[in-house]
Amino acid sequence: MADTNKDSITENNDNKSKRPKLPPVMPKFNFYWIYGIIAVVFIAIEFMPRDVAMKTTRTKFLTEILPSHDIEKVVLINKDKVEIYLKKDALKNEKYKDLKDRGMFGDDVGPHYTFEISDAGSFETDLNKRQEAYPANERIILETATQHNYLGDIIGWLLPFVLLIGLWMFVMRRMGGGAGGAGGQIFNIGKSRAQLFDKDARVNITFKDVAGLDEAKVEVMEIVDFLKNPKKYTNLGGKIPKGALLVGPPGTGKTLLAKAVAGEAGVPFFSLSGSDFVEMFVGVGASRVRDLFKQAKEKAPCIIFIDEIDAVGRARGKSMVQGGNDERENTLNQLLTEMDGFATDLGVIILAATNRPDILDSALLRPGRFDRQISIDRPDLNGRAEIFKVHLKPLKLAEGVDPMKLSIQTAGFAGADIANVCNESALIAARNNKDKVDMQDFQDAVDRIIGGLEKKNKIISPEEKEIIAYHESGHAIAGWFLEGVDPLVKVSIVPRGVAALGYAQYLPKDQYLYTTEQLENMMCMTLGGRVAEDIIFGRISTGAQNDLERITKMAYGMVTIYGMNATIGNVSFYDTNQEQTFIKPFSERTAELIDIEVRKLIDSCYIKTKALLNEKRSKLEELAKILLKREILLQADLVEILGKRPHDKHTEEEAKVEVMPHETSTGIADVV
Ligand code: ADP
Ligand code: ZN
Repeated sequence: MADTNKDSITENNDNKSKRPKLPPVMPKFNFYWIYGIIAVVFIAIEFMPRDVAMKTTRTKFLTEILPSHDIEKVVLINKDKVEIYLKKDALKNEKYKDLKDRGMFGDDVGPHYTFEISDAGSFETDLNKRQEAYPANERIILETATQHNYLGDIIGWLLPFVLLIGLWMFVMRRMGGGAGGAGGQIFNIGKSRAQLFDKDARVNITFKDVAGLDEAKVEVMEIVDFLKNPKKYTNLGGKIPKGALLVGPPGTGKTLLAKAVAGEAGVPFFSLSGSDFVEMFVGVGASRVRDLFKQAKEKAPCIIFIDEIDAVGRARGKSMVQGGNDERENTLNQLLTEMDGFATDLGVIILAATNRPDILDSALLRPGRFDRQISIDRPDLNGRAEIFKVHLKPLKLAEGVDPMKLSIQTAGFAGADIANVCNESALIAARNNKDKVDMQDFQDAVDRIIGGLEKKNKIISPEEKEIIAYHESGHAIAGWFLEGVDPLVKVSIVPRGVAALGYAQYLPKDQYLYTTEQLENMMCMTLGGRVAEDIIFGRISTGAQNDLERITKMAYGMVTIYGMNATIGNVSFYDTNQEQTFIKPFSERTAELIDIEVRKLIDSCYIKTKALLNEKRSKLEELAKILLKREILLQADLVEILGKRPHDKHTEEEAKVEVMPHETSTGIADVV
């Protein structure tokens, strides 16, 4: 494969192993060298023996040197410095031994003495006055001369520029830098920073490495097929999609899938993040796009993968906010032009990833561009088990590690979280000097990923611990007895991480529509913590901050977005682009009403929760006490303490519910 355009590709540093093998030549040119050279020059100038002449003073000259009549000439330089040249034969005199020691010999030209003066005029008068008595031929006439300190001038003139350029480079490297702050980057602005996995260093990820995602795989299979034998499609006159959009939350394996497509088809893979296009400099984004496509065309067939395409692909021209966006729009326009600009049979396929397809510019989604959307969701129970299988492979496992059990405990985790759990569990096992990773290590890893690192030595006073226990129990009880709230899987009051003192984990159901009652019940459950503190201790703590934040969001959502408030009515002020933060689409009066209604809603939920918890007070206290003792309670323990969940339709098959939950969003619902 030709090596021609390799230079223009700035390699990502964390991919050192994949770097094309360049001959091991000189160390890379580094900008610090320039700084070094400048410093050396300055030092050299500073120490250069500018004057060998001996320093003297004005008085000494007038009283001692002048009367000796050994002076050849006196030169006034730049009106502030006087140089004295002695007669050649006078130098032989013993008096001037000092001068000789300084390296001046008989035939030396001088100047031999020098001193500085402040007032040239008065010096000249002085000199003349002193010589009044001298015979005319011995009188010395003051000569004047102007000397240019060229070097100094040049440096003084250049220095600001050097500083400016230095500063500029610094800023550029900061901005362009990111992870790969290679020294030569300044020359590469505008070059795409696509990371090329060359065919020789081929992507060795295949569909085998991507667990689950069966439907998505079927969709991209077609792309693989096309890249492998395009003739099959074009012979029939079919047009191959130019691009596909992978839509899904972060960590669900979009990048992985795109790589697998390249790996399966055995084609080069260019990967770039949308935010790489967005630079401070005008035109940089557009030129990056151009460069990326140029490179890709040279290497066709190939895959271009643009992560976070929403960074460039946001809908154009809706924002009222000035500037800034123009550059993004230029970049987007360039992207659209490039996508239109190549023939479909060229074999360049663009995959892009986003988790917000709703904010993308509609032009991007038109036929001939990203006309396919492949949705990639968080994995379900079986999907997670599959992903666990992939990531368990490299681990040394103890007996009894079961991907299915792990999957049950990791409701709501995405593929990346699972990969993280597996890695973390191995680390935990190693820390405990085990030679195999067992189930407990996995449990610890899950806890750690949900709540952060366990803080064994985080000192929490018994009083505080009690508050936390009651707070969490309040959530648990409220959630247990209210209808339509996600079932609880775990309550923990083991302090973790920086902020989390305790947490409750829920199993979110596969649900897209919520009723008003359900949302209110969810708010009640979220308020449960604060209400419990209020009831039991008669005072409240800051522990509920996170809860309150979410309640506020929910309440405003109900009132302003979902039209769930009778007073405000069936209106929705949802702004998909969330760009017009300054201009509210409603009047001051409505704004006031909204605030009042939100307050009313939250207050009524508070009262409802308080009534519920007062009614269940004995259970609340019982639960809190057990929690204090055991620190972690699982769903089964809760059933034991509280009885079966009244509103759970599946209570009969509680065990099965645990094995077969449907969930979508994250399982982490509450962190004190
Ligand atoms: P995204 O691009 O969607 O944010 P990535 O593709 O970067 O997510 O996924 C991050 C990591 O998570 C992958 O490197 C892989 O280890 C793991 N992962 C995610 N989804 C899966 C999956 N379906 N099968 C196996 N591993 C996965
Ligand atoms: Zn709470």
